[in-house]
Amino acid sequence: MTLRPEVLVVGGGPGGAAAAYWLARAGREVLLVEKRRYPRDKTCGDGLTPRAVYELQGMGFDFTGPGVHRCRGLRSHAGGITLELDWPEHPIYPNWGAVVRRADLDGRIAALAAAQGATLLAGTEARPVLEEGRIGAVALHGDGVVETAHPRLVVVADGALSRFGRALGARRDRTLPFGVGARAYYSSPRAGDSFIESFLDLHDAAGRVVPGYGWIFPLGDGAVNAGVGVVSTFHRWHAVNTRELMVALVATAPPSWGLAEHPPLAPAVGGMLPMGLSVGPVVGPNWVLVGDAAGAINPFNGEGIDYALETGRLAAARAGEALAAGDPGRLQAYRRDLEEHFGLYFRMARIFMRGLGRPGVMRALTRVGFRSRSLMEWTLKVMSNLLDPTERGAGAAAYRLLERVVRTVPGG
Ligand SMILES: Cc1cc2nc3c(=O)[nH]c(=O)nc-3n(C[C@H](O)[C@H](O)[C@H](O)COP(=O)(O)OP(=O)(O)OC[C@H]3O[C@@H](n4cnc5c(N)ncnc54)[C@H](O)[C@@H]3O)c2cc1C
Repeated sequence: MTLRPEVLVVGGGPGGAAAAYWLARAGREVLLVEKRRYPRDKTCGDGLTPRAVYELQGMGFDFTGPGVHRCRGLRSHAGGITLELDWPEHPIYPNWGAVVRRADLDGRIAALAAAQGATLLAGTEARPVLEEGRIGAVALHGDGVVETAHPRLVVVADGALSRFGRALGARRDRTLPFGVGARAYYSSPRAGDSFIESFLDLHDAAGRVVPGYGWIFPLGDGAVNAGVGVVSTFHRWHAVNTRELMVALVATAPPSWGLAEHPPLAPAVGGMLPMGLSVGPVVGPNWVLVGDAAGAINPFNGEGIDYALETGRLAAARAGEALAAGDPGRLQAYRRDLEEHFGLYFRMARIFMRGLGRPGVMRALTRVGFRSRSLMEWTLKVMSNLLDPTERGAGAAAYRLLERVVRTVPGG
């Protein structure tokens, strides 16, 4: 193993593994360092939208193998109404999604990177050694041994807590929305359902609606992943207890899922969802942030796997250019890439989330929205970033108008 790789990637989740995959595929010498050992779990809903499926297909991920449960759409419940919506037809993305346990998914993506030639070092924690504001070296702590690597560039993909990123000075903008969630696995007679399911009228212990949603995602193997996610845009945010919301979800979910019949297979676990590219700076003199480390989760729906994969791919492309030119300054273009790909969309999502935080708005929207199937189909496309840019119609026109307005709002 070389300790002078061209690129060292910190973190072997989807973001880091994708960056390592694309760099190795381009012929670069990559060291992918993961603190834990595979199979390693990650608190998540395990849901992959068509966008994530597309990104993984581009990396040669095998969706026909065991542990993959394909889903044709989303079944949503709100205000006593249930709507089943197929994933839309799209010129680029497939019309299906999937549910894959993170304990399986992440090791398989890392193996794809290794198959392209990346060196995978698991069970090792990376810590930056700073020299005049840049990463001078990276200390690798594993099995009681500390070694020092001297990469030319570093991709930081160390997840929501991002200790490595914070040591470089990256900070979350606390004025922007943030999410928390919890999930647990349950055995269920409906584990083979072909729809993922969401519950939009999530209630706290006092019976008040909170902005967020509950989910049940079938895994196809006798179990389901059930959880809740809440956004920080309403005034009672600090009082929210996701474990209590889980109890409420189990009590109110359709009995056919069987959640209330047995305790969960393991206790519920919680995690943070840094959203809307709320962490920065995303680029330093010789490093870039990707995935949750950059706060890249979609605020509309809490989806982060796809955005980790996409930001990993974008960062890899810029790192490749910087290496080819012998100029780390070329990394700065990554900032522009993020703005071009996600800036406007995430700003719209943030505004939407702020709106949802106002009392009564969530309830009113679900009441109105659920009366119109076409409106909900369009909402599904917007929330999962699957809008076809060539699309016509009233919904698309309204969205483009809103886009134009948001462009003029500084910061969002
Ligand atoms: C409750 C909950 C439900 C969610 N549900 C979904 C969902 O259904 N679908 C979806 O798309 N997204 C979901 N998300 C978001 C998704 O889990 C994340 O966005 C995604 O995991 C981000 O990938 P990542 O590679 O950036 O980070 P991570 O997956 O967190 O990977 C980071 C990796 O870095 C490693 N690491 C950390 N520090 C170091 C270090 N110093 N050295 C070496 N390694 C290090 C960690 O061990 C970890 O393996 C959910 C999140 C939560 C909390």
